[in-house]
Amino acid sequence: MRIVVKVGTSTLAHASGRINIRRVERLCRVLSDLLNYGHEIILVSSGAIGMGVGKLSLNGKPSDMSTKQAAAAVGQCELMYVYDKEFSEYNHTIAQILITNSVVNDKTAHDNFKNTVSKLLEFGVMPVINENDTISTEEIEIGDNDTLGAIVATSTDAELLIILSDIDGLYDKDPRTNTDAKLIKEVYDITDDIMIMGKGKGTNLGTGGMHTKLKAAKIATEKGIDMVIANGSDPGILYDIAEGKSVGTRFYGKK
Ligand code: GLU
Repeated sequence: MRIVVKVGTSTLAHASGRINIRRVERLCRVLSDLLNYGHEIILVSSGAIGMGVGKLSLNGKPSDMSTKQAAAAVGQCELMYVYDKEFSEYNHTIAQILITNSVVNDKTAHDNFKNTVSKLLEFGVMPVINENDTISTEEIEIGDNDTLGAIVATSTDAELLIILSDIDGLYDKDPRTNTDAKLIKEVYDITDDIMIMGKGKGTNLGTGGMHTKLKAAKIATEKGIDMVIANGSDPGILYDIAEGKSVGTRFYGKK
């Protein structure tokens, strides 16, 4: 199965922005095992800005553009260094691809992106994709990695998009403020009622929240791709999802 796995900053880093070593080690181990099984995996990883914040010892996510972009430049290095080290341990090769919205708007860029990804997969290499935050301006910005994950999934004809987050899935109400909130396990149609459930913000260092995840689900399911939102606090959950078990919230692709 060709799977796009998107991991958010809240999964990869502590609130300080410093890398969550235990989590990242486990994530890379599980992904390596899924690669060994024979799945093709494309990793869409956030964490550049968060880790830059940690490495530069900044006080939280910067609000001005140039500091944010400088943090992304520092953090992206750290991110790839860690991934490369971890995946090398399991004998897997990874590749970095940083994209902007031109991948969506410019046919040549889109074709080049698709061809590069498919060549990498042919070589058995796992692409690690992030937005090119350092050069992104408003006009070419995708803005959040949930949308980026959906763009990558549709561009690469993936069968499944998995979004690992700090929440178990989509709830009928915000579970952080409502103790009686219920997890919705399956969504066949992303109606306005469903979109309303996605109101509310994400964590401090990341960008998205449930709203961007639902937007991503719309993009993916329109193209027939299933999407699962699950809690990345134990990356072992990826085994269950790959085996088709019911975890988190599954959005069914339109067939
Ligand atoms: N591209 C951003 C980063 O690597 C993440 C965007 C997001 O959190 O959705 O920091």
